[in-house]
Amino acid sequence: MVVIMSTGAGAREVSDVIARVRSMGYDVHLSDDKGHTIIGAIGEGRPFDFDQFMALPGVQNVMPADHPYKIAGRDYHPNDIQIPLNGARVGSPDLTIIAGPCSVESRQQVIETAHAVKEAGATALRGGAFKPRSSPYSFQGLGEEGLKYLAEAREETGLPVVTEVMESLLVPLVCQYADVLQIGTRNMQNYALLHAAGESQHPVLLKRGMSSTIEEWLMSAEYILSHGNMQVMLCERGIRTFETYTRNTFDVNAIPVLKHISPLPVIADPSHAVGKWEYVEAVSMAAIAAGADGLMLEVHPDPAHAKSDGRQSLTPERFAALVEKVRQLAPIVGRRVGEPVPARGLGARG
Ligand code: PEP
Ligand code: MN
Repeated sequence: MVVIMSTGAGAREVSDVIARVRSMGYDVHLSDDKGHTIIGAIGEGRPFDFDQFMALPGVQNVMPADHPYKIAGRDYHPNDIQIPLNGARVGSPDLTIIAGPCSVESRQQVIETAHAVKEAGATALRGGAFKPRSSPYSFQGLGEEGLKYLAEAREETGLPVVTEVMESLLVPLVCQYADVLQIGTRNMQNYALLHAAGESQHPVLLKRGMSSTIEEWLMSAEYILSHGNMQVMLCERGIRTFETYTRNTFDVNAIPVLKHISPLPVIADPSHAVGKWEYVEAVSMAAIAAGADGLMLEVHPDPAHAKSDGRQSLTPERFAALVEKVRQLAPIVGRRVGEPVPARGLGARG
């Protein structure tokens, strides 16, 4: 249930409603919508008597929330959530462009790529130090050494770092180096990891499970949000279908659906969706036209020799051409490419 207070409701009226919701066994989530305090009931409590709540002073409306996600939905949080990221922000009207290699392979590779993507207009750097590979014989990533190279690249370019964390015990380590914790498709329902990411209060990029429904995905986001961490961005990276010409099928439908039902920013990852660099630009444009808040793109200085996902990686030149097209499209859909942040001269954070 969601209680919408009238704009004139005083602090006393708001606290009376909160006390009443709590007395029925629920936790409370508070947000604000253009001067209206929104009181959301969270968890399981006694059934509500809607008329009783409507009769309380200062209450304008009472609505059921009959879907399982609560904080991840717009009725609990009507306004778009914006996530500050090193002086920039993720969320409307800015478009966030996260770019970099699939895997951090060496210091030189990641620093060279960071400079190239920044030059082309990227607003954040990606790169995996802990890699979730389908085969145990494939390159598994450089681990903490890779995190150090990413932090060095941030120091040189000012780009905030997005990198994957695969297990809950490593959340504190990855938080020391990363600006955004990426939770990959294979871990979308790793509840211990979601719990740890929620507790960290660090921004999280939550990828869609490759066979997950939108509702399952929002329930995973809810695990993070319910720990008081509202800094969650959702990343559509393609889902499994019968199609084999592409690696996955990019679910463009998910973008307007999520923008309708959820206040969380939505980032599109066309690279993992299509699996072939030559389709990445078209799907990127489709995602922005559909309302995505940004893109995550794999870029490698030498895709033919990449240790992972070379087939889908753009060269820096192709990435620059793509960003130019996005810049042209952005104003047509009321967006702008976020400004790159100046170099900060900071290393790994304590
Ligand atoms: C990645 O971003 O490199 C990655 C492994 O993505 P996903 O979890 O979407 O497969
Ligand atoms: Mn990859």
